[in-house]
Amino acid sequence: MDGTAQRASTGVPAIERDEGWYAERRTEILRSMAEVERHTLATNIVGTAVIIAFSQLLPNAQSFLLPAILRFVAIGLTSLVYVRIRARLATGASIDGVYRACILVGTLAGASWAYLILPLFLEPTFHPAAFLVLAGALIATSLVITNTSSLPQIWVAFCASFLLVFWFGMAGAPEEFRMPVLFGITVILLAVAAFAIGAARNRIFAAGMLVDNRRLGEDLAEALAEAEFLAKRDPLTGLYNRRAMFEGDTMSEMDRHLLLIDIDNFKQVNDLYGHDMGDRVLIRIGQVLRDTLREIGGHGHKAARLGGEEFAVVLCIADEQEADFVAEKLRAAIAELADEFDMAERLGTASVGISTFAGDERISDALQRADNALYAAKAAGRNTVRRFTS
Ligand code: GH3
Ligand code: MG
Ligand code: MG
Repeated sequence: MDGTAQRASTGVPAIERDEGWYAERRTEILRSMAEVERHTLATNIVGTAVIIAFSQLLPNAQSFLLPAILRFVAIGLTSLVYVRIRARLATGASIDGVYRACILVGTLAGASWAYLILPLFLEPTFHPAAFLVLAGALIATSLVITNTSSLPQIWVAFCASFLLVFWFGMAGAPEEFRMPVLFGITVILLAVAAFAIGAARNRIFAAGMLVDNRRLGEDLAEALAEAEFLAKRDPLTGLYNRRAMFEGDTMSEMDRHLLLIDIDNFKQVNDLYGHDMGDRVLIRIGQVLRDTLREIGGHGHKAARLGGEEFAVVLCIADEQEADFVAEKLRAAIAELADEFDMAERLGTASVGISTFAGDERISDALQRADNALYAAKAAGRNTVRRFTS
């Protein structure tokens, strides 16, 4: 079944197959090819050496020397290119340049194999070693095509240069050999290529699945991080929400003071200026809280919107007077904001209740005291700060 259809039926969003997707799939295929090359390099060298050794038993042994050198040059260069490919894959660097080099060494390899078997037909003999050289060369060629068959540019380059060199080379072969051998070798090579293309389908599909799975994993991690972020935030102001602020109902060692901030006569703000305006005021209050906490410096201060027009601030300030000073600064900043919005008297200002954490008590206890202080601030006429006193 097609992978996209499968995902659509399970409700998981389909992966977009853009240019990048195809590039990633090619990288995965190249990775598996590079692994095969690493594990078969020794066999490749030994196999080629054996084929060349057989050629030295033939009467025209000399004619195989130059092709043999070219063959080993091709093996060496191919190996170097794959070393670079593996290094680039390991660091995640771009493989575009080395991919082109891979096509080039594929071309050289194809030519070198054709060049190696040409002397068999230019000076034909019925020596048994001739059959062994031809068989070995054709097997090796088939293996190269099979291993590169998932990347058409590489195996096409390999086959094309093989056939080109072979066809040109065969111009010098005896008349009665020329056509049958050209036809036969070409058909064998094309048959191998056709088989390899069929076999490559699964490998290409598997590489595509790998890319799909990785992208899906990345999307999920991103969505999870976003969900975690949103779960802790108040959507209107971007401040922490109640749950994030008081997670576990315990305070950290640094937390010293708790401020409860309730906006004054906010119902009237809505009634007089509209709910949208109310929302804008709440958003700006969120900014003011954030900015003020940044201004006072230090680490670990937190601001949250507990709900409605109620906010809380935790200050990591040891000194009580300093904390009171910050509370006053916050109140003044919100009063200034009310001015900025041109609100009527006592509208949109803030009443603040402040309590100090006592040792390792629960946050809910400190919250209760801050609430009592806030009540006192409201009773005192609003737009003021009150500290809890027992
Ligand atoms: P007090 O000074 O005693 O605190 O008076 P208040 O009007 O602020 O208090 P009350 O609790 O009676 O009203 C709170 C109002 O806050 C009621 C509600 O319309 C408004 N409010 C709550 N949440 C939101 C919100 O998300 N957006 C807007 N625009 N208004 C909100
Ligand atoms: Mg309220
Ligand atoms: Mg209020």
